[in-house]
Amino acid sequence: MNECIFCKIIAKEIPSTLIEETEDLIVIKDLYPKASTHYLIIPKKHIADIREFETTDSALAGKMLMMAQKLSTALPEPQAFRVVVNNGKEAGQCVFHLHMHFLAGKTMPEF
Ligand code: AMP
Ligand code: ZN
Repeated sequence: MNECIFCKIIAKEIPSTLIEETEDLIVIKDLYPKASTHYLIIPKKHIADIREFETTDSALAGKMLMMAQKLSTALPEPQAFRVVVNNGKEAGQCVFHLHMHFLAGKTMPEF
């Protein structure tokens, strides 16, 4: 886990722009935003991607979606947003610690 960039952000060993923090999750601004609002919802537990979820992680999965709902309440009307999770490098994943992209506002066409 020592080389995981998101574990280091969670441990506050490297800086990030923190939007929200709970017992289980952090929300940070994406360093290279692909939309005018681009956050990452990251579980504190190191899981590579959705394929590694265990049955006992179902509450955590729900908390990630509920966090997306909470973040949407701070958006301007119509509070529309997109969530994306890349699972595996062939699907575009670059950081192998599960994270949900939260995108809103003007989105870059390639995303
Ligand atoms: P993915 O391609 O789904 O693995 O997404 C990884 C995301 O992490 C990309 O959108 C990157 O811009 C973002 N990212 C990489 N390093 C950092 C960092 N140090 N702080 C915030 N976001 C980062
Ligand atoms: Zn990690």
